[in-house]
Amino acid sequence: MAGCIFCAIAAHEAPAKIVHEDPDVVAFEDVGHRAPLHVLVIPRRHVTSLSEADPDTIGKVGVAAAKIAVDAGYGERGYRVVTNVGPDAGQSVPHLHFHVLAGRSFGWPPG
Ligand code: AMP
Repeated sequence: MAGCIFCAIAAHEAPAKIVHEDPDVVAFEDVGHRAPLHVLVIPRRHVTSLSEADPDTIGKVGVAAAKIAVDAGYGERGYRVVTNVGPDAGQSVPHLHFHVLAGRSFGWPPG
């Protein structure tokens, strides 16, 4: 979608440290870096949020998120996967993204 930074990253038109990509999913390091591992996993196709996503897309993004955390060595110790939807949750980029965070302990509930 024109003007969407995550669409631009998926199209290699904006810079990002991409850690995984396949025909459906792209994953890259979050510039905000809130944990030793902080990766954003997005569908290549523009979807605004989890509320608009179909099961196939959610499945592919979710499976990729888990694989990235496990392949990075956090399968035993654990990791967190978060997706923010809308203003109250603090969604700042309107393109579905799963945050994958690992490498420290996280409080609960978040925020
Ligand atoms: P959220 O607030 O849940 O919508 O998360 C958006 C995330 O995108 C934030 O953690 C930002 O640090 C991150 N972010 C925004 N722009 C970029 C970018 N160009 N490259 C990598 N991460 C980004």
